[in-house]
Amino acid sequence: MWTETLVVASLIAFATYFCWYAFVGKTLQPITNEEADLTWRLHKKNSGCKGSRITDMLSYRGKVIGFRCDCGYEFKQKRLLGQNVQKHPTPVDNQSQETPRAGLPG
Ligand SMILES: [Zn+2]
Repeated sequence: MWTETLVVASLIAFATYFCWYAFVGKTLQPITNEEADLTWRLHKKNSGCKGSRITDMLSYRGKVIGFRCDCGYEFKQKRLLGQNVQKHPTPVDNQSQETPRAGLPG
């Protein structure tokens, strides 16, 4: 029947739309300016990029999720499906490791 076809077709369309929406929403992760800067430096180092700066911050739904380099390279923070990102943040150990040894009698 034609109504059945119509229902199935709209279900498929809806499912496709929903999957796409969920996929994009789940895979694009917001990043901080520091992360963008770090990733950009990595990109420059790895690709020998001659770009001098980030020309654009890419955002999705009001959050920064990537950047565009001077050279045209685009980075978007993505999370692999099935990858568990519930990692504990690694403790940052930059507490006075290089304290200047001032005041030593000598
Ligand atoms: Zn670049």
